[in-house]
Amino acid sequence: MMPGRTHMMFSRKMLCLYFILIGFQISCVTNKTEENPDENVVASPDGNLRVAFALQENGQPAYSIFYRDSLVLTDSKLGLSRTDSDFSKGMTLASVSEPQLVRDEYVMMHGKRRLCTYQANEKSFSLSNTAGEKLNIIFRVSDDGVAFRYHFPDKSADPKKIDEELTSFHFREGTKAFLQPMSVAKTGFEGTNPSYEEHYQQNIPADQPAPTEAGWVYPALFNYGDTWLLITEANLDRNYCATRLKQHSPGNEYAVGFPMAAEVMPGGALNPESELPWYSPWRIITIGSLGTIVESTLGTDLAAPAIKEDFSFVEPGVASWSWVILKDNSINYEVQKQFVDYAANMGWEYCLIDVNWDTTIGYDRIEELSRYAASKNVGLVLWYNSAGSWNTVQYHPKDKLLTPESRKEEFSRLQKMGIRGIKVDFFGGDGQSVIAYYHDIFKDAAAYGIMVNCHGSTLPRGWHRTYPNLLTMEAIKGMEFITFEQANADLAPSHSAMLPFSRNAFDPMDFTPMVLHEIPGIERKTTNGFELALPYLFLSGIQHIAETPAGMEQVPDYVKEFVKDIPVAWDDTRFVDGYPGKLAVIARKKGDTWYVSGINGEAQAKTLNLDLSFIGRGKEGVLITDGEEPKSFSKTNVSVPASAYQLNVEPNGGFVMKF
Ligand code: CA
Repeated sequence: MMPGRTHMMFSRKMLCLYFILIGFQISCVTNKTEENPDENVVASPDGNLRVAFALQENGQPAYSIFYRDSLVLTDSKLGLSRTDSDFSKGMTLASVSEPQLVRDEYVMMHGKRRLCTYQANEKSFSLSNTAGEKLNIIFRVSDDGVAFRYHFPDKSADPKKIDEELTSFHFREGTKAFLQPMSVAKTGFEGTNPSYEEHYQQNIPADQPAPTEAGWVYPALFNYGDTWLLITEANLDRNYCATRLKQHSPGNEYAVGFPMAAEVMPGGALNPESELPWYSPWRIITIGSLGTIVESTLGTDLAAPAIKEDFSFVEPGVASWSWVILKDNSINYEVQKQFVDYAANMGWEYCLIDVNWDTTIGYDRIEELSRYAASKNVGLVLWYNSAGSWNTVQYHPKDKLLTPESRKEEFSRLQKMGIRGIKVDFFGGDGQSVIAYYHDIFKDAAAYGIMVNCHGSTLPRGWHRTYPNLLTMEAIKGMEFITFEQANADLAPSHSAMLPFSRNAFDPMDFTPMVLHEIPGIERKTTNGFELALPYLFLSGIQHIAETPAGMEQVPDYVKEFVKDIPVAWDDTRFVDGYPGKLAVIARKKGDTWYVSGINGEAQAKTLNLDLSFIGRGKEGVLITDGEEPKSFSKTNVSVPASAYQLNVEPNGGFVMKF
C-alpha cells in the first residue's frame, strides 16, 4: 500500500546540478546563484529540511523542498497577479537577505501544548517585475516545516487587488493524498455552504481531481514514502481571502485557489485587496513523520500574536448541550435548566443554549437562568445566526451581530446578563469581506469579555492565538451529521481517525463528541470505548459533549466519574501510534497526568504495541476500554511496562488510559 522508498539522494552541493538534470532552469539573472548555490537555499536549524529558491526560465519564482536530502516538493511555483501589475513572470532577483534565526515563545490558552516554542531560519528574496515594482518572498524553515509569504514593500494608499495567486505545491510521482473536498458555494442547507463539512478522500493519487470546481480544503495531507506533508495557512488577516487547493492537480501539482464568487458579504470584497505595504498570510507545509504533524504547532507559530495582553476572562472548558441529540424542541426553560444541572453535576463549566432561545425562552428568563447557572458555577453560551442578507436561515436571533453598533449593543447586553460566550452559525464563505467579519466579531467580543465559537464556518487558521477568546470553530462534519443520517454514522470511525492528522492538527474543532448511549434513529457504529476516547483525542477550547443527562445515567459510575475530568488546555501532546483514517493513538499531558486515548477507525480488531516509556516505567494508571458485551465498558488497573504495552482494540473500538 505504501509506495516503496524510491528517494533519490542529494548532497547540498549537487542541488544545482540536479535542477539542470531534471530540466529545472535556474535563471542566470543573478550570477551569485552560480557562484554560491547555497545563497538561494534556506535550511532548517537541524539541517534536515532545505528549501531551494530559483527563477524559472520565464522569470517565474519557484521553490523545491528537500527533506533529509530527498526531494519532496519539486519546481513549485510562486508569484501573484495584481489587477494593476503582474508579479509572476519576468521577475528579476535583486537581492537575498542574510539568513536570520527567528525565535518565538508563546502561551496558548487551550489546545495541544500550553508553552509553544518556534525557531526557524528566515531569508527574504527581493524581486522586481518588468515595471520595476517590488515583491519580497519570505521563507521560514523550522525543523518541522516550511512557511513562506509574500510582501509588497512599496507604499500606496490606493488599494491594490490580487486576482490570482500562483503558488503551487508540486509533489513527486507516487505521492498519495488525504483530502476533504471543498463544497460548492450556496449548496447544502439553506445554501449555507461552504462549511468544511465533507468526508475525506483517503489515500488517493495526488493527481486525482476534486469532485467539483470548488477544490479541496486545508489542512491537506500528503504522503510520499515515509514522509508526511500537511499544507495549511496562518496569519489570515482582514486583508486577504481564505484560500484552498484548486480542483485539478495535473502531474501532482496543486495550486492555491481563491473562493467562489458567492462567498462574500453583500457588496464586499471576494479576492484580496489592500493598501501597500501588504503581507499575505503564511503558506505552511509541515514535513516529517506522522508524529511531526501531531506534535507540531506551526499553525499557531505563524499566526499573529494575541491582540492584547489581558484575556484573563477566557476560561476553556467543557459544556453540556441539548440540541445535538434533542434538537429544536429542547430549547425551552425546563430542558435547559436540566442541562445546567447536568453540567453542574458533571463539574463542567458551561451549558450551550442553541437556536431560537430569544423567543422560546426570552432574554428575561435567559438572564434568570444565567443567574441560576452562575450559582452552580456554570456559565451560559448563547447561539446566534451570523445574519446578513445572503443568509436565508430562519433560526434566530439573527441580525444582531452584523453592524458594529448592533454587535456592541448586544455584547454589552450579554455582558450585563452574565453570559460567558456566543456560538455564531452560518457564515458566508471565504471571501475577504467574510474573513473581515470574523475578525470584527472576535475583536468586539473580546472587548466585552465574551468567548466565541463559530459554526457553519471556515477553518480558524490559527486565529485562536490572535484572539484567545475564540475557543473553537466547527468546520467539520461532526456529531450533528451522525445524528442526521445513517450513512454518516457508518463512516464515523474512519472519519474520526482522519482528524488528528488533518483538520484538528493545529486548529480547535467543535466536533461535539461523545455519545455513550444511544443516538435516536441511528445505529451507532463506534463502540463505547471509541466514543469515550474522543473528547481526550480531539482538541477544542470548549468541548461540547453530545451525551444527554438521560444517556449519562446509563453508563457505569466509574465512566461517569471519569468524564467529569476532560482537560481541554493541554500542557503537552505526543504521537503514540496511528495511520490516517485507520488508527489514532495520542498521549496528552495535563499537570503530572498523562491521558493516552486511542480509536480504531477500521472494522477489524487490532493488537497494538504501544511505547509508553515517556510516561515513566512502572507508573500506575487506569484503562477504560470496550467490555466483552456489545456497547459495554471494562476498567483495568495498569502500569507502564518495561517493554511495549500490548493492548487489544475492538473493531471500531477505542480506549482511554490515565496515568
Ligand atoms: Ca454545522
